[in-house]
Amino acid sequence: MKKIIGLDLGGTFIKIGVVTEKGKILNKKEISTPKGRGRQGILEVMAQSIDYFVKDSPRKQLLGIGIGTPGLVAETGKVFLAPNLPDWNNLNLKKIFEQKFSMPVKVENDAKAITWGEYKFGAGKGYDNVICITLGTGVGGGVILDGKLLKGEKYSAVELGHIPICYAGPKCNCGNTGCIERYVGAKYITEMAKKKLKGRKSLIREIIGGNLAKITPKTISEAYHRGDKLAEEIWLEVGNYLGVFFSGLVNLLNPQVIIIGGGIAQAGDIIFSTIKKTINERSFPLLAKDVKVVPAKLGKDAGIISCASLFLP
Ligand SMILES: [Zn+2]
Repeated sequence: MKKIIGLDLGGTFIKIGVVTEKGKILNKKEISTPKGRGRQGILEVMAQSIDYFVKDSPRKQLLGIGIGTPGLVAETGKVFLAPNLPDWNNLNLKKIFEQKFSMPVKVENDAKAITWGEYKFGAGKGYDNVICITLGTGVGGGVILDGKLLKGEKYSAVELGHIPICYAGPKCNCGNTGCIERYVGAKYITEMAKKKLKGRKSLIREIIGGNLAKITPKTISEAYHRGDKLAEEIWLEVGNYLGVFFSGLVNLLNPQVIIIGGGIAQAGDIIFSTIKKTINERSFPLLAKDVKVVPAKLGKDAGIISCASLFLP
């Protein structure tokens, strides 16, 4: 059985493991992403952790190393731009690690890698037309169209978080205004909760012990599951924003399934049913009718499995 090393680079953790061609993790570990040591510090920790797994497996069994990184990634394996990592622009990760380990390396945007992983082994399995969105601090995603990962001219298509849903909305980090990330990114959901809490009763206040700095999408979900009305209001609003967003994408791409990943999916059915309802109200009925809106399936090991899956056709 052939194996692949999958490495998912995040702003907080580097998750790495050895995965079989069938998507099974054989061995894995999680390391904190080094802070304050710039590009070199991160590259060193990546190299050490890859080295550990390369030594652990017979060389001829390894197909290669799949790497997922934040940012816009070229087909050559070069990261054009990654706003949230120090000095990570114009960095050819493929070249660096191919030279270091003398084996094939594939590099992809992290959310696009997750899309491919969910398509091969998760909630997108069995479909040819898939949209996958990852909702966290940032909003990313990918599209499978006719069984292929949508790439675009510069290989950097589908920056899902930076599609505007409002003509004159709030300013986004990317320089545009009204981007979907500005409404459903974790930080902005938290801001929405703080505004709504003013002068109102809510279980959220009890859960965070009165300390507004402790509000997260997770605490809002917890309050919602305990019957809190204000938390319900938040998730309905978030579901509506996403529904408006996806109604445009349904008309553009005619997907069979929309996969929602990231912490917000923990809010549960309220998110999925609100998105689906809004799509039904706004997209062409013929296209909206059969679209499924479902949670991602690969769970906490999604990054490792997905990055390894970059080696699977
Ligand atoms: Zn933006």
